[in-house]
Amino acid sequence: MPSIFSHAIFASAVGSAYTAEPMEMPVRYWALTAACAMLPDVDAIGFAFGVRYDSMLGHRGLTHSIAFALLVGLAVGMFAFGRRTTGLGKLQLVLYFALVTLSHPMLDAMTNGGLGVALLAPFSAERYFFPLRPIEVSPIGMQFFSERGLEVLVSEVIWVWLPALLIYMTARMYRAVKSEK
Ligand SMILES: [Zn+2]
Repeated sequence: MPSIFSHAIFASAVGSAYTAEPMEMPVRYWALTAACAMLPDVDAIGFAFGVRYDSMLGHRGLTHSIAFALLVGLAVGMFAFGRRTTGLGKLQLVLYFALVTLSHPMLDAMTNGGLGVALLAPFSAERYFFPLRPIEVSPIGMQFFSERGLEVLVSEVIWVWLPALLIYMTARMYRAVKSEK
């Protein structure tokens, strides 16, 4: 995985692009955006209980699938917001939270280590990577303040934070141009 914060940062950029008024969005929108982007890695708990990495419930298994993202999107989009608190319809919210949850396995699939993500679980246990995998894989467990940790951080800044900034700036410019018309 890229480290958990990078998942949240990337998803927040997606979140700023998804709405016409990011500043008006309730705190809950941002909190759930970060939470959904981090959620798939709950499966890392399995290591402590002897769940095999390559099994369906192993790390990057079921919780890194499209089906899981859709379920999370459905649950959060349908039930987490009252009417009119976001300016987005239920369907838009469902799609959005499915998208940010899915951004997690997409980033994982661009890392250069570990096993791929089980995108098609529970229907297939096949693990997938993208052909391009520039992101330095983050060590499992928190040996983060090592030299290895620094390498990972630099790689995430380049391959996750910068693209996130680009998404954020593009959305901002788009809104500025649009409001001038
Ligand atoms: Zn992950």
